[in-house]
Amino acid sequence: MTDDATGARTYDVLVIGSANADLTVRVDRRPGPGETVLGTDLVENAGGKGANQAAAAARLGARTALLAKVGDDAFGEMVLDGQREAGTELRHVLVERGARTGTAMIVVGPDGDNAIVVSPGANSRLLPGDVTDARAAVAASAVVSLQLEIPPETVRAAVAVAGETGTRVVLNPSPVPEVLDPALLEAADPLVVNEHEARGLSGLDAGTAADWARALRARGARSVVVTLGAQGALALDDAAGDPVAVPGVAVTAVDTTGAGDAFTGALATRLAAGADLADAARFAVRVGAVSVTRAGAQPSYPTAEELD
Ligand code: ADP
Repeated sequence: MTDDATGARTYDVLVIGSANADLTVRVDRRPGPGETVLGTDLVENAGGKGANQAAAAARLGARTALLAKVGDDAFGEMVLDGQREAGTELRHVLVERGARTGTAMIVVGPDGDNAIVVSPGANSRLLPGDVTDARAAVAASAVVSLQLEIPPETVRAAVAVAGETGTRVVLNPSPVPEVLDPALLEAADPLVVNEHEARGLSGLDAGTAADWARALRARGARSVVVTLGAQGALALDDAAGDPVAVPGVAVTAVDTTGAGDAFTGALATRLAAGADLADAARFAVRVGAVSVTRAGAQPSYPTAEELD
């Protein structure tokens, strides 16, 4: 799949990960056990960290492919429509007959607090063999972007294949495990974590984001980016020595859903284009900031033109 004449890559970013339907309803009061309450009209959106990151990268103009698994149901179509709209290459999205597309049931309480139940569905059927079957696509990509909403053995297979093909791995270890497999940590270049994930995985009870980033480097990550919400992000790689602080962009936040995925998709986009880590983080902070000014996850992601 690489261009034989030039050795150029076919894809800038290959995202290997989850694709979900996000079903959201708002309630005035959470139901207790055995209780029923009425909510607002149901809102359905395409989501899942993998699909979100792919949509973010594709909208920014990166040649992007998604390796994911959906069911042959209406939610699977919704996921595919979202990717089509963004401009993602869909040939690596696998449709499993008889399976249900992953679904996140999101109940938003009166304070905007979320309670979420995820039914992984077809995401749990994305298997190591699916990744090895897509080896040519990994080899043809500048960056592979991974999260942890698919089976751990599949993520390990992706890291192994990327190691063999010399493809850079961007890893967002979310949902965060108590202990991250060292093979994943050592492949991450960068590990992209929010403050909660950085603190948890660093093994430090206290300290600053810079301390957590250094600890994660010491534990084996090749480079680390810590996202800091409205405060921006922090980037630490080999060359830098000290973390580079990237200030946040002041915006009026309307909906922060999927901001971290917008950030990671943007970071992967810039790294694939050859930017250094701090430059890529500066770009990703701008993209993340735009995404919080609009409702939803994928529909909130900017194009390169909108960013200008
Ligand atoms: P996560 O959503 O994964 O917890 P963060 O909250 O750190 O991640 O947000 C990711 C990125 O989104 C930030 O680095 C920043 O670029 C952007 N962002 C998030 N919240 C805000 C905000 N309130 N104002 C401006 N930018 C924001």
